[in-house]
Amino acid sequence: MNAHPSLDKTKPYYQCQRCGNCCRWPGDVNVTAEEVTTIAAYVGMPEEDFIRDCTRLNANRTGLSIIDKPNGECLFLEGVNSCRIQKVKPVQCAGFPNVWNFPGWREKCEAIEV
Ligand code: SF4
Ligand code: SF4
Repeated sequence: MNAHPSLDKTKPYYQCQRCGNCCRWPGDVNVTAEEVTTIAAYVGMPEEDFIRDCTRLNANRTGLSIIDKPNGECLFLEGVNSCRIQKVKPVQCAGFPNVWNFPGWREKCEAIEV
């Protein structure tokens, strides 16, 4: 039986199928200052090193994004669908697709409506 974690039960809830597609498509993976501190500690890096080596300015220059690998996928994606920082992943990652999404997201995301 599937739980319905959304507080608003009038809205559909999309349950992630862990396809990993959202970790592969282009764009920012925004991280807040607090998330930088948390993720840096989680991966065992000094914060300054983490900012230098694992982040870049986001597209609208309002903050930091996790960098992409040369193939375009998120730096922390391991294999097809495993997030190296799953336990401390950014709110942006956790919020997709229920908290935020974009036009056409259903074509790329394999989450199922429950
Ligand atoms: S931080 Fe993890 S969940 Fe977020 S895009 Fe990167 S690999 Fe995916
Ligand atoms: S694209 Fe959708 S189903 Fe695939 S991992 Fe991301 S949220 Fe989950």
